[in-house]
Amino acid sequence: MIGAACAYYAARSGLSVTVIDRGPVAGGTTGAGEGNLLVSDKEPGPELDLALLSTRLWRELSERLPAGIEFEAKGGLVVASGDPGMNALRDFAAAQTKAGVQADEVPAPLLRDLEPHLSPALTGGFHYPQDAQVQPALAAAHLLRASGARIRTGEEVTAVLTGAGGEVRGVRTPAGDLHAPYVVNAAGTWGGELARLAGAFLPVMPRRGFVLVTEPLPRVVRHKVYAADYVADVASGSAALQTSAVVEGTPAGPVLIGASRERVGFDRTLSVEVLRRLADGATALFPMLAKVRAIRTYTGFRPYLPDHLPAIGADPGVPGLLHACGHEGAGIGLAPATGLLVARLLTGDEPPLDVRPFLPGRFAPAA
Ligand SMILES: Cc1cc2nc3c(=O)[nH]c(=O)nc-3n(C[C@H](O)[C@H](O)[C@H](O)COP(=O)(O)OP(=O)(O)OC[C@H]3O[C@@H](n4cnc5c(N)ncnc54)[C@H](O)[C@@H]3O)c2cc1C
Repeated sequence: MIGAACAYYAARSGLSVTVIDRGPVAGGTTGAGEGNLLVSDKEPGPELDLALLSTRLWRELSERLPAGIEFEAKGGLVVASGDPGMNALRDFAAAQTKAGVQADEVPAPLLRDLEPHLSPALTGGFHYPQDAQVQPALAAAHLLRASGARIRTGEEVTAVLTGAGGEVRGVRTPAGDLHAPYVVNAAGTWGGELARLAGAFLPVMPRRGFVLVTEPLPRVVRHKVYAADYVADVASGSAALQTSAVVEGTPAGPVLIGASRERVGFDRTLSVEVLRRLADGATALFPMLAKVRAIRTYTGFRPYLPDHLPAIGADPGVPGLLHACGHEGAGIGLAPATGLLVARLLTGDEPPLDVRPFLPGRFAPAA
């Protein structure tokens, strides 16, 4: 997704772009997650600024790209199941509102106007009309096609070529050398490995997540609905398993149930404990789901950086190398703003927002 967005905005800026992926389009984390475009889960700060810009850009893209990306400006609904949780949501929303987020309190009696199947036991919630959704693999594929960039799938980058001064000269793949004055590292969870090929350092780590998928249903879940504790889980740096209830319908019918987070390397072993917790959380929010069958589950590895911010911008030690990776659980949402930022950095034009908090140099060994 991030590579597609970088290619799209760079090519539109007049640059000649080749996208190289060792797998197929969306064969990485992009094809193994969900496609929520959220501002609701972000506290004021650089990531929210990136998300707000992306929200606007996704709306523009939804008008330019085919309907197949399944863009839905459906809105998010965050719910609390007690007064302390509701008070925490109020404080969070008040701070977000000052930063440009639209957040509307929904008292308990009105929750079921928005989501008729929600549990009556909930205390209240907040509606975030700016939250939206895409089908991530299709969005990446359409964005890539619309970019007009040359696409070379099934080719692994095995070396980053550098000149006498250490500057980037291109990349090597089994198909040969490709010369270019700039290389953008959009290798997601494998961004640290790609950086290493260039002699650079980025501590990207996998943060595993499972998604539980139900049988197709009529539209019983209208918004992205999640429990208030999801925000704390997203912000946590713990390696231990965390689960919080996140439920959303899809145009195709299946309901997607998340969200789990744990740092267990690239272990793909199915965890029944995680699935049980996901199902429990979802049925607590939507009791009717208890009677619905789960038909499959899948897992993906979020590209995690220790401060939860992506690395976007020039590598401090390798001229010509730019990084655009480490977006953790928000890479679909943050893709367009990342792509635009990278394109502006490549052309030397004014970036659309302050790039400093994202600069990869914050992880340089000396820093
Ligand atoms: C369960 C789960 C749920 C999620 N839900 C959401 C959500 O609702 N909203 C959201 O915004 N985000 C979500 N995410 C996060 C999101 O999926 C990621 O942030 C995003 O997909 C990262 O995109 P990317 O392009 O950086 O990485 P990827 O999609 O992994 O792409 C990196 C690409 O680099 C390629 N590559 C790596 N090394 C090389 C090499 N040496 N040579 C050539 N190619 C190479 C890989 O093949 C891969 O295709 C979720 C993630 C998970 C796991």
